[in-house]
Amino acid sequence: MMELSYQSMKIAHQAREADELRTETRRKSLLILIYQHLLGQGYVAAAVALDQETNGGVKRFEVCDNIDLEMVLMEYESYHYVKFQKYPKLIRRTAGPGQAENRFARSGGVKRSPGSAVKPLPKINPSQSPQSGNGAKKTAASSHTNENGSSVFPELSEFVLNVSSIRNGAGGEAAMNRKGQMSDGKGPIHDAVKGAGSDSDHMERLLKPLSGFSGMSGEMRDLAAIISRDIYLHSPNVRWEDIIGLEDAKRLVKEAVVYPIKYPQLFTGILSPWKGLLLYGPPGTGKTLLAKAVATECKTTFFNISASSIVSKWRGDSEKLVRVLFELARYHAPSTIFLDELESVMSQRGTSMGGEHEGSRRMKTELLVQMDGLARSEDLVFVLAASNLPWELDHAMLRRLEKRILVSLPSTPARQAMISHWLPPLSSTGGVELRTELDYETLAKGMEGYSGSDIRLVCKEAAMRPVRKIFDALESHQEGDSDMPAIQLETVTTADFLDVIAHTKPSARNLMDRYAAWEREYESV
Ligand code: ADP
Repeated sequence: MMELSYQSMKIAHQAREADELRTETRRKSLLILIYQHLLGQGYVAAAVALDQETNGGVKRFEVCDNIDLEMVLMEYESYHYVKFQKYPKLIRRTAGPGQAENRFARSGGVKRSPGSAVKPLPKINPSQSPQSGNGAKKTAASSHTNENGSSVFPELSEFVLNVSSIRNGAGGEAAMNRKGQMSDGKGPIHDAVKGAGSDSDHMERLLKPLSGFSGMSGEMRDLAAIISRDIYLHSPNVRWEDIIGLEDAKRLVKEAVVYPIKYPQLFTGILSPWKGLLLYGPPGTGKTLLAKAVATECKTTFFNISASSIVSKWRGDSEKLVRVLFELARYHAPSTIFLDELESVMSQRGTSMGGEHEGSRRMKTELLVQMDGLARSEDLVFVLAASNLPWELDHAMLRRLEKRILVSLPSTPARQAMISHWLPPLSSTGGVELRTELDYETLAKGMEGYSGSDIRLVCKEAAMRPVRKIFDALESHQEGDSDMPAIQLETVTTADFLDVIAHTKPSARNLMDRYAAWEREYESV
């Protein structure tokens, strides 16, 4: 009995010691982070003062693995969003000069040695934000001055002024603070992108309001620019009837995404709409077309993001890009976020050679966090993901893509419809008639295993043959006479077409079994 209680006391003691050590390390790390942040922002004198006050303690170590204060705050924001469906307000104005110092001194912060002064970060984020409006602008700008009269947070006061001016220019009150999500630095991106119109002035207007910033604001500008390049502000203009075949897939997509937007009253409780949908299947079968049709037919804002471009263009900071993307989508709701080539970012963890890149891991986590946020919110934002290699996808991501739809290779009737669509008996190319005499049924049967995009390529190649034959005549003619000869293209025949097929191999035939197997396996999980 004695033995037992001694053991448990010993364990409790060890646990307490480990806990204290952790707290101590956390506090030290925080000071080092602050030191590095100050240096990074150019507050050299403040950094030197901190170094002196800690007797050089902050210089003896460095933080590991890309941790920085901004990152910590971002993660806190994500956590807050998932928990409360809104972002926290990060700062509020102090009641009077010196109040912050007094508060800090009351807690004993100023005098303590490194290791006991700093509270955990989330607790320094109270819940009120600066007021908007002109009066508030002035106070906000002037309240950030220290005793010497110089600005303590130059970027911040400039930022507050700039936000207001953008808002006034881009729809005033209506454009601001929707669902409380756009204060604290998110406003400029929303408003800038929202205000973007035609392609030509799009980037200029996007960049203008943010151009006065440096540091963080430059980063926001980059994020907004990258996303706005991929955002369709106008309808992608693909109708359901433009998609040949794929009747099942179309029906399922409509059921999952279109009807909940059209008839929201029906989709509540157990029928609440899916937030994540995966379109999988061979390349070139119409997954992108389906996503675009959703955007066109439902008039949702369409964010077309190629997953690999998120990673390659924005390596280390791709998780920030993901966050801004979802913010924009919520703001423009109803929105469709189309994530193409999902496997290139959401492959199973740790499968890549040499382990996972830290930035890519953070990005995956952010994507999962954002998807969870969607699932808990009422926002009409849908994630439509597409993958050619679903078996490579991360399981945590798959769980969040609740609805999965196989977009398979076209059936024989669909292939026939495609060929007759792209090569009808009579069409016109550049004012010149193109005639075909094709046995559509035979050709469709001969193209088993070809994807929609393969078939389109074959049709193009078949149409190109008679055109090629007239190039010589055209070229020799131009050197002499100025009158164009009457051009007569040869008719495209079934034999021509079969010849093209013989030279073009289908790209994904042998993968079909694998999709079917994956579908079976997944259904049984
Ligand atoms: P993916 O499945 O790789 O996203 P896409 O939707 O981008 O394929 O299709 C590529 C091209 O192939 C389309 O732009 C279209 O021209 C053609 N295509 C593929 N499937 C179809 C289809 N079912 N109906 C009409 N065109 C199709």
